[in-house]
Amino acid sequence: MNFPAWAQDGCLLPGGEPLLRNDLGGIIHHARGKGIYVSVSSNGKLVPEKIELLRNVNKIKLSLDGQQDVHDRIRGKGSFFSVMNAIQCCYDNSISTSIQCVLLKYNLHSIDYVLNIARKFHSQVSFQPSIQKLLWSEEQNPIVPLPGEYMNAINYIIRRKRESAPVLNSFSGLKYLYNWPNNTKIGCSAGILSCNVEPNGKIFACDRVQYLDFNSDSAFKNYNNAKGQFKDIKLIRKCYQCWGALQVEFNLICSFNFEAILNYWRISRNRRKGIPQKKINKN
Ligand code: SF4
Repeated sequence: MNFPAWAQDGCLLPGGEPLLRNDLGGIIHHARGKGIYVSVSSNGKLVPEKIELLRNVNKIKLSLDGQQDVHDRIRGKGSFFSVMNAIQCCYDNSISTSIQCVLLKYNLHSIDYVLNIARKFHSQVSFQPSIQKLLWSEEQNPIVPLPGEYMNAINYIIRRKRESAPVLNSFSGLKYLYNWPNNTKIGCSAGILSCNVEPNGKIFACDRVQYLDFNSDSAFKNYNNAKGQFKDIKLIRKCYQCWGALQVEFNLICSFNFEAILNYWRISRNRRKGIPQKKINKN
């Protein structure tokens, strides 16, 4: 499980599948006790079972790639039912959700479907491209879309956002993602304002780039505390492949990008005021 810090006030508990951890309740309780905004990612399967534990989180981030045949083709049979059940369960329990949609060659026609689900359940969608290489390897990911089709899809999402569709990415974020998979510069704050903490306590600047270090003890000294580790964190000097929607938004905000700041401010304002998701989608 990763644990990147979000500015001063947030942490994300992304996948793998954090709900498999028996101590997740303690982690959430500790973070919320310190006034930290907590978002938990999940494939949805265990959400109904663990709904009591999740009442204390600020947001649950669920992955939805499209209609049942599309989603199940990408994530396995039965996974569509799990995620839809989780979205419904969060909605019924007034728990805020966001939907993550990874753009693949199988789901570029499913953008409206996912946006409609988000609107129906008062949620919002963040879009991002898929990773080009399979995790832990140099092998090409066989389900990446063709760049031209992907660019058309991003242009379409930009148009839908202009029409007030519930798209979480900022316009600047989408314009950055449009460049995938070509090298594209972005101000990177990984290791300075954000980091990833692995279950074994190792701290990385960015798991998207340093994933080959996860199992490498030689990449780490022995530290007694996280502070020391963070101080010595290995920074990434040059990275032109920033394709995670949240990393992009965070980097743009830290680079004082006006559109990204405004987008984040609107989301945060609604969050602080406790404005229901229904109204967020209308902004
Ligand atoms: S993917 Fe690259 S640019 Fe983006 S946060 Fe990670 S290291 Fe920085």
